[in-house]
Amino acid sequence: MLKVDLHCHSNVSDGVLTPAAVARHARQAGVDVWALTDHDEVGGIAAARVAAAEQGMRFVPGVEISITWGGETVHIVGLRIDENNPALVAGLAATREGRDARGREIGVQLEKAGIPGAYEGALGFVENPALMSRTHFARYLVQEGYCANTAEVFKKYLSEGKPGYVPHRWASLQDAVNWIHGAGGVAVIAHPGRYRFTQLQQGVLFDEFKDLGGAAIEVVTGSHTPDQYPVYAKLANAYGFLASRGTDFHAPGEARVDFAALPPLPASVTPVWHDWF
Ligand code: AMP
Ligand code: MN
Ligand code: MN
Ligand code: MN
Repeated sequence: MLKVDLHCHSNVSDGVLTPAAVARHARQAGVDVWALTDHDEVGGIAAARVAAAEQGMRFVPGVEISITWGGETVHIVGLRIDENNPALVAGLAATREGRDARGREIGVQLEKAGIPGAYEGALGFVENPALMSRTHFARYLVQEGYCANTAEVFKKYLSEGKPGYVPHRWASLQDAVNWIHGAGGVAVIAHPGRYRFTQLQQGVLFDEFKDLGGAAIEVVTGSHTPDQYPVYAKLANAYGFLASRGTDFHAPGEARVDFAALPPLPASVTPVWHDWF
């Protein structure tokens, strides 16, 4: 059976390894089919493609687009995209715009909460200046001893309602799906179990996504708890979605689950890659 991982981050967004190093890490864990899906950015795809070929892995160009839907931030993964498609490239550039200003404001808010210098500190963890993420703040706060790990930083400082949370308006669902389709890709709802929607709201999201031509939802992901795998397998079948699988890898040791430990998709679902090879 092919080992497929369709959700990973490099230091082109908020991961810590270069695209080539993520490829090596994935291969060492036995991955055969691999997608790089950096947040709002395709700058790592070219290097990732070369590295995947060197490692003998099939490569899937991808991206994870931040959108605002129902007052929440939702992530839409695009797979098999043409990363040079002009409308996609322009849409992602527009989506990245505002990340730096948000970062400065997060710094101001954290200072008020008694944590000075966080913007500059977080910048020290940023490789791509166009892509400052809350994750970079989390790593800085861990380094400075404010929290034991990044999950704790999100819980105490960076989640909605917490002192360092700064609301932000991302792309629309329709724009993100259209950019992905325009670039020849398939659209996937990332880690649906992570959003704080009621079942009713989640159903509306799935319906809207389906109407726009969305193809799949993530079922087995490092961003789900194991008890969510069967729940989203059932929902994928109920809505006629294909199922995706990926670690959502960001950094060695930082992951909730590493490459090798993530289980395969349940047999009941149709993998999003079923007709790719
Ligand atoms: P941003 O796009 O800058 O708002 O940052 C979102 C990123 O923060 C996600 O892609 C995750 O990598 C990370 N993140 C969000 N929530 C958590 C959490 N509870 N624990 C650890 N990392 C998180
Ligand atoms: Mn991330
Ligand atoms: Mn995500
Ligand atoms: Mn991700």
